[in-house]
Amino acid sequence: MFDVLIVGGGAAGFYAAIHIAEGNRKLKVAILERGKEVLTKVKVSGGGRCNVTHAEFVPSELVKNYPRGEKELLGPFYSYCTGDTVQFFEDRNVPLKIEDDGRMFPISNSSQTIIDCFLNEADRLGVEVFRHSSVTKIEPVQAENNSFWKVTSIKKTYKTKKLLVATGSNPKIWSLLKTLGHTIDKPIPSLFTFNIKDSRIKDIQGLSANARVSVLKSNLNSKVTISLSSARKGDTILTEEGPVLITHWGMSGPAILRLSAWGAKVLNEKDYNFSIRINWLPEYHEASVIDLLMEIKEVESKKTVLRTKAVDLPRRLWTNLVKASGIVPETTWADVSKELLQKLALQLTRSEFKVEGKSTFKEEFVTAGGISLKEINFKTLESKLQPNLFFAGEIINVDAITGGFNFQNAWTGGYIAAQGIINSI
Ligand SMILES: Cc1cc2nc3c(=O)[nH]c(=O)nc-3n(C[C@H](O)[C@H](O)[C@H](O)COP(=O)(O)OP(=O)(O)OC[C@H]3O[C@@H](n4cnc5c(N)ncnc54)[C@H](O)[C@@H]3O)c2cc1C
Repeated sequence: MFDVLIVGGGAAGFYAAIHIAEGNRKLKVAILERGKEVLTKVKVSGGGRCNVTHAEFVPSELVKNYPRGEKELLGPFYSYCTGDTVQFFEDRNVPLKIEDDGRMFPISNSSQTIIDCFLNEADRLGVEVFRHSSVTKIEPVQAENNSFWKVTSIKKTYKTKKLLVATGSNPKIWSLLKTLGHTIDKPIPSLFTFNIKDSRIKDIQGLSANARVSVLKSNLNSKVTISLSSARKGDTILTEEGPVLITHWGMSGPAILRLSAWGAKVLNEKDYNFSIRINWLPEYHEASVIDLLMEIKEVESKKTVLRTKAVDLPRRLWTNLVKASGIVPETTWADVSKELLQKLALQLTRSEFKVEGKSTFKEEFVTAGGISLKEINFKTLESKLQPNLFFAGEIINVDAITGGFNFQNAWTGGYIAAQGIINSI
């Protein structure tokens, strides 16, 4: 009989185990992990550097990075936020650093530092870790004055007073939880890049430009459009501004990844076939760009349009957009017609691209969906349906944009569940 069993030796499972064992040294705590290794996602995270969290220390700002969970995480973040995570690692000699875009990494630049920290802590605190122990069944047992959970793994059967399930996005565990009455919101991918075949971005992979990208409303059925809280007036829905990276299969970069997260549901319903509109000069709109181009026409009249760097765009992207607007290579500014300049302005501020499918963003991907948020008490992360059953991490229908926010959900969830368990034992 254990006091606490944790299913899942990942980020949330370890963080919870350490806080439980440290919070009450008398408790018998163990982790059951299906793999031969624990913390495998931490290992590969952030390209092997582990983007531990994000330098956003205000709970009401931090929640804005969670397309699913924004409302529910506010309370937990007031209890345990980014600053607490930084302190946790610093107290254990794992200092973190902040990069220019706000992402935080261990100074070592190696995810192994985080893994070593967790393994040492678990060892120091006497947390048992059972590897090769895939859990196949969990059952509540009601005996007189003694209710407990029976947990069956492929190796053994265990009994525990408190059960924390932190198995990430595992469909089998979600099925088990359904049999206990829980609702599982449909799991769908989040944080992906867009597949686009288009001559304007051909042969310029690696280029990055700051742009405003919008998903066009005409692509989305009206029901979905109305239900989206971020629905906008006009002919676009879901707009993000930031770096867009041209890849050899289409587009990636922060603006695209953010769109994939906020649009995870609607884009899934469109089977990832939709159109986007890009303003490559987000500080301008179509009319002001025409004025700008007319000014350049006056000043640079003898130069060719193609070879003038008229605007702040990577040169090869400028070249492709000029060609796409129908301006032939040797045309000088003096010779270019107003009609062609209008076409160029359109390419610069309203160019449309057809997205046909998605690709995985190798540095970080998550699953949107999971245990319905309504069925969890966010003060303790205990199930509202099954007493003594707790959840933390990606198993819940919470996910974030890229940048360290997904791990922060695991850390905060692990901590809150740990307190919930300690206080109820
Ligand atoms: C390639 C990649 C890179 C990423 N990089 C980042 C990043 O840099 N920053 C960031 O914030 N987020 C990142 N993420 C997201 C982040 O890894 C997850 O949000 C986070 O790991 C979720 O933690 P978790 O503990 O809920 O689940 P996991 O970390 O997935 O842990 C779940 C554990 O449960 C185990 N398990 C599952 N089923 C069973 C079972 N039946 N019995 C026993 N054990 C079981 C699994 O083997 C696993 O070890 C990345 C994701 C990927 C895929």
